[in-house]
Amino acid sequence: MNKRPSFPARLDFSAGAVKTAKPAPTPNAVSQGHGMDSGAVRMNMVRKLAGQGITDAAVLSAMGLIERHRFVDSALVNQAYEDTSLPIGLGQTISKPGVVARMAELLRHGVTGPLGRVLEIGTGCGYQAAVLSQLATEVYSIERLRGLHEKARHNLRHLRLPNLHLLFGDGMLGYPKGAPYAAIIAAAGGEAVPQAWIDQLAVGGRIVAPVHRGGAGGGQQALLVIDKTPQGLRQTMLEAVHFVPIKSGVA
Ligand code: SAH
Repeated sequence: MNKRPSFPARLDFSAGAVKTAKPAPTPNAVSQGHGMDSGAVRMNMVRKLAGQGITDAAVLSAMGLIERHRFVDSALVNQAYEDTSLPIGLGQTISKPGVVARMAELLRHGVTGPLGRVLEIGTGCGYQAAVLSQLATEVYSIERLRGLHEKARHNLRHLRLPNLHLLFGDGMLGYPKGAPYAAIIAAAGGEAVPQAWIDQLAVGGRIVAPVHRGGAGGGQQALLVIDKTPQGLRQTMLEAVHFVPIKSGVA
């Protein structure tokens, strides 16, 4: 069993109050190269997330723990803790911290203790996968672009997260070997949620995914929550979001 942070019922947001990630074998890019204390900057981000309405202490703790600056190119390190998406190569982006926290909170929907197995579609640079690894017993994260799958592997090496499994493949098909999942989260938006995800979701589980409102060719993207209850599926459309498109096949 890997070490995971304990989740205090109330978080102390003072700098250094939340445990920082395990010391890395290589020097910290922020503190070494940019004269910035990443722990303090991160706590400031966490404080802002709390101000935006994120209340789940486990989510705030995970956001305070995972060093986002390690997942972006060195030229963008100074923007790593701003609430903005940033390019990660191959036309893809790392999600805004506010969106990562919001989706993680929706995924947990008040569950106390860690979620069970979670499937993430769209590993990208691996940041959200690292956050999820602090909130779930196992995380399966799948990426269709080999270049990013490998980048995520590289970015995540220093964290040594034994409960995070990086997979290369088409996430539209889900990942049946890890099913059933307590939760499925998509970091790329399509017309609808694939049937495979619904089939691979446990009863009592939840999917959080960006989809186009109004179906095929429809205008704006919004967050869709699907709950699989013993009585059937319950769908809730939430706020507008802006994610890269989900695509079939691998490249
Ligand atoms: N969670 C990521 C966000 C990455 S952006 C992060 O923290 O960085 C979304 C990612 O979804 C892109 O890397 C894109 O290549 C990937 N993607 C799109 N369609 C996919 C599919 N069918 N299967 C797996 N990954 C997919």
